[in-house]
Amino acid sequence: MSDTPTMEKHSFQTEVKQLLHLMVHSLYSNKEIFLRELISNAADAVDKLRFKSLDNAELIADDPDFRIRITADEAAGTLTISDNGIGMSKADLIANLGTIAKSGTAEFLSQLSGDQKKDANLIGQFGVGFYSGFIVADKMEVVSRAAGTSEACRWISAGEGEFEIESTERGQRGTDIILHLKDSEKEFLNDWRLRSIIAKYSDHISVPVEMLKPAEPAAEGEEPQPATEFEAVNKATALWTRSKTDVTDEEYKEFYKHISHDFAEPLTWAHNKVEGTQEYTSLLYIPKNAPFDLWNRERSRGVKLYVQRVFIMDDAEQFLPVYLRFVRGVLDSNDLPLNVSREILQDSGVTQSLKNACVKRVLGMLEKLAKKDASAYQGFWDQFGNVLKEGLGEDFANQQAIAGLMRFASTEHDTSQQSVSLADYIERMNDAQDKIYYITAESFDTAKNSPHLEVFRKKGIEVLLLSDRIDEWAMSHLNEFDGKPLVSVTQGDLDLGELEDDAEKEQREKVEQESQPLIERFKTVLGERVKDVKVTHRLTDSPACVVSSEGEMSAQMARLMAAAGQAAPDVKPVFEFNPEHPLVTHAAQQEDGAFEDWALLLFDQALLAESGSLNDPGTFTRRLNKLLLKA
Ligand code: ADP
Repeated sequence: MSDTPTMEKHSFQTEVKQLLHLMVHSLYSNKEIFLRELISNAADAVDKLRFKSLDNAELIADDPDFRIRITADEAAGTLTISDNGIGMSKADLIANLGTIAKSGTAEFLSQLSGDQKKDANLIGQFGVGFYSGFIVADKMEVVSRAAGTSEACRWISAGEGEFEIESTERGQRGTDIILHLKDSEKEFLNDWRLRSIIAKYSDHISVPVEMLKPAEPAAEGEEPQPATEFEAVNKATALWTRSKTDVTDEEYKEFYKHISHDFAEPLTWAHNKVEGTQEYTSLLYIPKNAPFDLWNRERSRGVKLYVQRVFIMDDAEQFLPVYLRFVRGVLDSNDLPLNVSREILQDSGVTQSLKNACVKRVLGMLEKLAKKDASAYQGFWDQFGNVLKEGLGEDFANQQAIAGLMRFASTEHDTSQQSVSLADYIERMNDAQDKIYYITAESFDTAKNSPHLEVFRKKGIEVLLLSDRIDEWAMSHLNEFDGKPLVSVTQGDLDLGELEDDAEKEQREKVEQESQPLIERFKTVLGERVKDVKVTHRLTDSPACVVSSEGEMSAQMARLMAAAGQAAPDVKPVFEFNPEHPLVTHAAQQEDGAFEDWALLLFDQALLAESGSLNDPGTFTRRLNKLLLKA
């Protein structure tokens, strides 16, 4: 073995290269945030070691006081961020600073257009992190020694595709991040500039962030002495432990960026201290933008968990249900043991009651936002509405609160914007209406133009228009809101109840009587294809439609299941026709042979309007052409 340290070359993972490029190009107007990110990482490293030392006090015996130090070297043009946290081994350095763990990143990044690449908000979807150092540095060096070990390693990169690793010495555990500043970025060596950035971004970090105390001016005839003493330049108290009235909005926003690594500001937050049988503090945030991997079920989620102000773990998912996976924040409990593990959390009664409390807080915070600032709430709904809807089926205890937070497109506006709440709907209901009507379809246009809406439009009754993939499933769990049943206009017998007057009822019964022979003719032709044939009360402009029977799976749901590869029952629709429609009266006058063509055409048309596709479109088209030629 030779004594000279060997340099090992490694390539960055493709994702890292893409992210580095994106970062340097989108964040040039907000360069100073690199310091926030590196201090944030240093504070995390301290938190992790403090936690580990609960079990193994040896790890910090030589230096029990945690700190982060920022030093500038004018002569060398370097800025160094040092911490005495957990440190990194060689393997850690390669894994942590050479790869990005989030799956789907490469794919997402490669789909971005040129303009998007300049959008600073996009970067927030990944978290900026360590690599932000390359906004101001043309070379980064990391010297690190993992706590409890004696070997140290140096990581060096110019941020251009590869990095090098070699063994080195470091007197103590911890990490130095050494930034070789670009010539144009030397302002970040300035003492005053650094102090003001730290005050702006890092006051809430619970670890002291220290800088050299300016040296005393030299006395007459004496050599000036270089500064050697350090002083803390941040407040160094954990933000959530402070009283709400002491914390400014700016501080709350900065703290959010620290815990989420999001570049954008949060939409809203709720900070609560609870004392009594349960003692805890929660500080929960709603982000402004959905992360690119919101739909990846394996993505990490949950809050940062502290016990008695000691950091325990990131991404504690036990305190928030999956349908609130977009929430970020901190939970600090006085009731959990310090040696708590994920397994203990799973079975703890304390966990369950903290989870209930967190859910209430989040839903309450959203209600408040909806009341206070409808346009901000609309922004939330557009980003996260489809996630929140999962709660209808997953959280029955809070179902009514979730339903109250939902926003819908509706025949009131006929635009795809989802802005109508159930409360708005109920307020507009007329005295005779006792149900909330909705339709689910594959697209907004299919919903909006559905023949099922004809009678509702004629009578001026509002119908909610749902067309997101999850809607059919979600709405199947919501039977009522505020005591009013929710009814799908495509399902079951349409009972308009009080909305129909006596004359209308009489007329309807008369038409039903008179149409009996025609019903029988349709049944003979459609046979096994349908469950039943009826005279419709829904249609005014269309000749026919198909509906699902009450209590049976809807056709839309069966299609969704089939598309997801699940065994879906073969649901047969009820065929409803409008005996007054000219196409139907024309069909009724035909001999049996021609009538068969008409009946099948009307049935296929109705299926097409409902689902947008047919099993056998060829036969449908041939039949249509035959009838067109006869006309
Ligand atoms: P993030 O902090 O979002 O995970 P980063 O790219 O900023 O992403 O950092 C990657 C990883 O490198 C961190 O998760 C952490 O494990 C490690 N790391 C970064 N800085 C330090 C540090 N000062 N001390 C110990 N580990 C660090």
